[in-house]
Amino acid sequence: MLNVPSQSFPGPSSQQRVASGGRSKVPLKQGRSLMDWIRLTKSGKDLTGLKGRLIEVTEEELKKHNKKDDCWICIRGFVYNVSPYMEYHPGGEDELMRAAGSDGTDLFDQVHRWVNYESMLKECLVGRMAMKPALPKDYHEEKKVLNGMLPQSQVTDTLAKEGPSSPSYDWFQTDSLVTIVIYTKQKDINLDSVIVDHRDDSFRAETVIKDYSYLVHVALSHEIQEDFSGLFYRKCQLVSKEDVTHDTKLFCLMLPPSTHLEVPVGQHVYLRLPITGTEIVKPYTPVCDSLFSEFKEPVLPNNIYIYFLIKIYPAGFFTPELDQLQIGDYVSVSNPEGNFIISQLQELEDLFLLAAGTGFTPMVKVLNYALTNIPSLRKVKLMFFNKTEDDIIWRSQLEKLAFKDKRFEVEFVLSAPTSEWSGKQGYISPALLSEFLKRRSDTSKVLICLCGPTPFTEQGMKMLHDLNFSKDEIHSFTA
Ligand code: FAD
Ligand code: NAD
Repeated sequence: MLNVPSQSFPGPSSQQRVASGGRSKVPLKQGRSLMDWIRLTKSGKDLTGLKGRLIEVTEEELKKHNKKDDCWICIRGFVYNVSPYMEYHPGGEDELMRAAGSDGTDLFDQVHRWVNYESMLKECLVGRMAMKPALPKDYHEEKKVLNGMLPQSQVTDTLAKEGPSSPSYDWFQTDSLVTIVIYTKQKDINLDSVIVDHRDDSFRAETVIKDYSYLVHVALSHEIQEDFSGLFYRKCQLVSKEDVTHDTKLFCLMLPPSTHLEVPVGQHVYLRLPITGTEIVKPYTPVCDSLFSEFKEPVLPNNIYIYFLIKIYPAGFFTPELDQLQIGDYVSVSNPEGNFIISQLQELEDLFLLAAGTGFTPMVKVLNYALTNIPSLRKVKLMFFNKTEDDIIWRSQLEKLAFKDKRFEVEFVLSAPTSEWSGKQGYISPALLSEFLKRRSDTSKVLICLCGPTPFTEQGMKMLHDLNFSKDEIHSFTA
């Protein structure tokens, strides 16, 4: 039987209908595009004026914030300070002002239902509307709520007392949604600082703040028996596997639908597979699906895919097993680890990347992040060491990027080239480095990232010290 749609097309709230239904777009000032807004939200600027605090908002309080420069709007129980967003709003300031100081849910549903506002406005979140705490239907009878707080014993927070702050948490719910709010008192919490897994009857949220990790683990209907020590793994499905070079492949894994996990720039995860009855674990550094993928789709609600560039060693232990996996098979992926701190890139003028073989993998996200998010950046130079031309990962993408973005330069150095190779040759050396690492001035902010086989990294580190680069100016990726 044919499935005949009962509604007319486009649906009443679809984007096509809304766009053609008289909602006018106003011209935005220069520097007020969606991309500019995303940059602003990622800049760490306090957009709510509350220094990262989330508050409960009474109706009286909401009404007071009804001016252009102080405009709060409630959407589905969440209150946002939309003043910073005014000039970026494609529908214009007047349209937003129609909901100033009030509940704008209905208005929002008429014109914007399709907009992913939770993500767009997340840095503008002031808090939720004050409401009476209710007992969550889904929780166990004995896990009673105290003023909307779950009992403290539910929080596994072993390091909180020594940590930078002691986060607390709270929850609230509607018929279809339970929202857990973790108050961290930190400004620079991003999506990649939070890992959420909801499996069977357990909900687990890990928040990473500086050197500390805080865990909220809630039993929804059964007691939790899991051991929290060590790394947490979730099973991910192999979605695709593509040849990149003769021995390196791009693996795409899909996270379980109930997991939120974004691996921070410069960090790696562990992949785990049972091999001859034993669980074997090796570290790998996630990459983007290509060098041009960042910001293709700027407001993604959830990252569900993780990509890896992995070299298969025929005589290796782990990678041949990984290569044997069929599409649809599972591999376990751990939480991220690593000591690269994204703030190392702030205010940077010159970024030098020294990569050998698959040591290129951490450079992918660092490169993408720096080119898209660091306004002070003047130059990014990659020196990529490989044995032969056939071993160079994403060579044409790198060349295209260098052509497209004048801040980026790439140089290939081969240790076992054919006679046709006219480029640079050899292993890492002081001569190669001193020619390559030209800083603009003695005071310019520089970072050199280094990754590859252990002898490469060790020799490189020593050469960089001899060239008078300070410890703060060098980051080596190791296990
Ligand atoms: P192994 O069994 O470790 O063998 C590797 C090679 O060494 C084989 O050719 C083998 O024959 C040879 N070999 C092994 N033992 C000896 C020995 N005693 N003497 C001489 N030769 C020996 N790799 C990637 O491809 N992509 C990544 O993104 C990536 N990220 C990483 C991140 C980190 C933090 C680290 C530390 C490593 C990363 N690696 C990455 C490397 C990865 O973890 C594995 O080491 C690699 O995949 C090899 O694993 P394997 O078990 O297949 O090979
Ligand atoms: P490879 O054997 O293909 O060598 C690539 C280049 O590394 C060579 O062309 C050469 O320039 C240099 N090199 C190799 N051996 C050297 C030596 N003894 N001295 C100086 N330079 C040398 O490299 P591969 O098989 O792709 O291995 C990549 C390595 O990078 C692996 O050891 C892997 O564990 C490591 N890795 C580390 C991380 C991390 O974050 N720590 C991430 C990815 C890869």
